[in-house]
Amino acid sequence: MKMLKVEKMQCPNCASKNVIKNGHRYEKQCYRCKQSNRQFVETYSERGYSEDAKQICLRMYCNGMGFRAIERCTGVSHNAVINWVKATGARLPEVEPVETIPEVGELDELQTFVGSKKTRFGCGQQ
Ligand SMILES: [Zn+2]
Repeated sequence: MKMLKVEKMQCPNCASKNVIKNGHRYEKQCYRCKQSNRQFVETYSERGYSEDAKQICLRMYCNGMGFRAIERCTGVSHNAVINWVKATGARLPEVEPVETIPEVGELDELQTFVGSKKTRFGCGQQ
């Protein structure tokens, strides 16, 4: 099994980390979320992050969270999140190379900025 940079599995349904191992299926670790009772299988992308982690990060982004905030919450590198956002076609704010992403103190402003764009992304229409 590859090393997982995310410390603990998160539920793909509700993003809770309150998950328990629930046996194996097709040689993959299965989990069950104690919060939403959803069962899911651990999967890994080539970058070492799970598909679930990717979906959670993209959902966070679409809900207006900044890349650094997502990194802090999930342990996923903001660079990976940025790549996923690019790969899924969501448009990045054009102003910021990685080095100038605001820290927590400026997050409110960033969230407002990103949040105002989400309707144009078409996110949240699952
Ligand atoms: Zn859940």
